[in-house]
Amino acid sequence: MSATFSGGCQCGAVRFRAGKVGRAGYCHCRMCQKAFGSPGAALIETPVASLAWTRGRPAEFRSSAVVARGFCAACGTPLYMLEDGWTRYDMAMAAFDDPAALPAPDHAVGVESKLPWFDRLHTLPARRTDEDRSAGDLAQLKSLQHPDRDTQSGPERRS
Ligand SMILES: [Zn+2]
Ligand SMILES: [Zn+2]
Repeated sequence: MSATFSGGCQCGAVRFRAGKVGRAGYCHCRMCQKAFGSPGAALIETPVASLAWTRGRPAEFRSSAVVARGFCAACGTPLYMLEDGWTRYDMAMAAFDDPAALPAPDHAVGVESKLPWFDRLHTLPARRTDEDRSAGDLAQLKSLQHPDRDTQSGPERRS
């Protein structure tokens, strides 16, 4: 899939742009659970050659002998995993500015570690944020998250 997909971490210190993405999948493995602090991770193949870091650079943690995981050192957002010698990142789909515009995951891996309630999530009683919070509440909840688009300035000054 060829287009331009931008993204970045929650604070905006690290921003990227991908010129091309491939297949997307969902990983339930224990390492993705830890790295993302979540049930698992939606990841999308992104050729290393097509990815530009447009602001800042990720820090890396080696989670195994052959895998590095990139994240923002300022805010901790997980950004990718990269196996030694591979020419593609597995990028964190939700770190993109418009995750819904990416191809949907079409396979799952690491299912031996899938949490027992994962397959029931869509059956839970569900509410929108504005059903839990009043308009006044929402007005006070000023987001400090970097907006889902490229900006001129870094995390300290954004417009
Ligand atoms: Zn950050
Ligand atoms: Zn994994």
